[in-house]
Amino acid sequence: MADYDYDLFVIGAGSGGVRAARIAAMSGAKVAVAEEYRIGGTCVIRGCVPKKFMVYASEFADTFKLAEGYGWSRAEHTFDWDAFLNMKEIEISRLSGIYASNLAKAGAELIQARARFVDAHHIELIGSNRTVSAAKILIATGGRPKTPDDLPGVEHAITSNEAFHLPELPKRVVVVGGGYIAVEFAGIFHGLGCDTTLMYRGPNILRGFDEDVRAHLADELHKRGLKVRLSAQHERIEKTDKGLVSHLAGGGHIVSDVVMFATGREPYVEGLGLDAAGVNTAPGGAIIVDAESRTSVSHIFAVGDVTDRVNLTPVAIREGQAFAESEFLGRPTRADHADIATAVFSQPQVAVVGLSEAQARKAHGKVDIYMSKFRPMKTVFVGREDRALMKLVVEREGGKVVGCHIVGPDAAEMIQLAAIAVKAGLTKAQWDATCAVHPTLAEELVTLREAYIPPELKAAL
Ligand code: NDP
Repeated sequence: MADYDYDLFVIGAGSGGVRAARIAAMSGAKVAVAEEYRIGGTCVIRGCVPKKFMVYASEFADTFKLAEGYGWSRAEHTFDWDAFLNMKEIEISRLSGIYASNLAKAGAELIQARARFVDAHHIELIGSNRTVSAAKILIATGGRPKTPDDLPGVEHAITSNEAFHLPELPKRVVVVGGGYIAVEFAGIFHGLGCDTTLMYRGPNILRGFDEDVRAHLADELHKRGLKVRLSAQHERIEKTDKGLVSHLAGGGHIVSDVVMFATGREPYVEGLGLDAAGVNTAPGGAIIVDAESRTSVSHIFAVGDVTDRVNLTPVAIREGQAFAESEFLGRPTRADHADIATAVFSQPQVAVVGLSEAQARKAHGKVDIYMSKFRPMKTVFVGREDRALMKLVVEREGGKVVGCHIVGPDAAEMIQLAAIAVKAGLTKAQWDATCAVHPTLAEELVTLREAYIPPELKAAL
């Protein structure tokens, strides 16, 4: 083999890149990781982790209200955005430091620079006047927010990147989009007391999720007072002295202090020099890889959001791990993309594993549905109308639970455990044989006895 500076060069110190670099370095390989920004990637720096802190911060408003219903006396509560941002920064810096020290402990070199391919084995480190060579290269540069570039006034809008450190908490916010990020941030701003409008171009939010889940979440958001404008789209955004005016296609406008676009993310490949290396990409920019995360160049690999497979942190980590195990530990491994549980940290949370009812009907033909909508005891106590939803999708022939859908408090925590059963292919009878934990929300999952018949069909029986 030719002489290279490194056995492995990783571009991007996010979840996937760091995992791969650590495993490879611990095997004795000479490894370097280039990162142009802070260590930790989207998840730690401007994604999952700070978002969850914001969700926690915003949930207190509701908790204070609930507390009164439980006999706590009314108290004045104020929220200090700057204090929150400071605390968040301290924690994010701590976590970023742990990522960096884990890399160092594993023996990987961290290079603070932007990297660009010169050719298939050489990488220029921009700004440091240095070019390095590597036997294998892993691209793990993640994704970045995408905004419609042809919308007049879009330059006045922000994305989730900026939402994490706004100079002040806005009084009025318009959040555009109907996916994970839009729904999560609309809940955050609403909870923090901002007058929030979630604006989505389609007929209902969370396209791709189970229809009952979508309808249920829309109802619950409405009950909580979040303004949701469906089938609405921007024509232009105008900056005025009253604020940002969102002019809507077909008439009407909304005035706000902030317009946040959460209209999807795109693979971050700009300026990487993929052409120079001969790495092929798909039309949206995603790096094309095979099941081993290998690109069109046999010694160049890619993991995580830059490949646009399943854009979730734990998936990137598994892809990075599988790559490093295969290439450096001599253990051929593939990341398994089946039955990956996911959670939307909306308020209430949505959590899912496996197939939606529509997907299951397509895949399995006949399916049985078990579904319950009920008032959780914590909020029914104070007379609230909030409802949780639990839905199991069961393929009729073998009785396997092929989908589990939850909307309600702690849905994300529940789905992690339900995912074990779905992944293991357990049958509805095996779920039923599991004794309930009482009183919990989760016990519904093992006590759903009667197949659900939609009310309109019931009436016809
Ligand atoms: P999503 O793909 O989930 O949603 C994008 C939304 O923007 C869709 O509702 C889409 O509408 C809408 N949209 C797209 N283009 C336009 C446009 N030009 N004008 C108006 N609306 C538009 O992307 P997100 O940005 O929310 O999240 C990106 C990914 O990040 C997710 O898919 C997920 O994989 C990951 N993520 C995961 C989280 C978690 O696990 N909790 C949290 C945050 C992100 P339509 O449906 O009509 O196409």
